[in-house]
Amino acid sequence: MHEMSLAEGVIVVVQDAARGHQPCTVRTVRLEIGALAAVECEALRFAFEVVKRGSVAEGAQLDIVEVPGSAWCMQCSRNVAIGARGEPCPACGSWQLQVTGGDQMRVRELELT
Ligand SMILES: [Zn+2]
Repeated sequence: MHEMSLAEGVIVVVQDAARGHQPCTVRTVRLEIGALAAVECEALRFAFEVVKRGSVAEGAQLDIVEVPGSAWCMQCSRNVAIGARGEPCPACGSWQLQVTGGDQMRVRELELT
């Protein structure tokens, strides 16, 4: 389950951010997850609940913002929205797509008090 290592990576980011704000409580960790990032949100939530114990993020809520996938269609010469990798262009049906967004996960925002 790679969500476990992703959650551990999130904790590392939170710890780094919290270091400059001692003492602090992390209230919310807002994550941005692309539709094409191959991350199971529910599995990630579960993993986060496990790895946050004993860490600076112990009392934190996980807030997940899903970002739609987008790709550049070489036939249409424009960006189109796609729901998954390997889908054809919704406008012209071409398979010549270059993924341009929604393929990663990142920590967008932290609420510290
Ligand atoms: Zn197209």
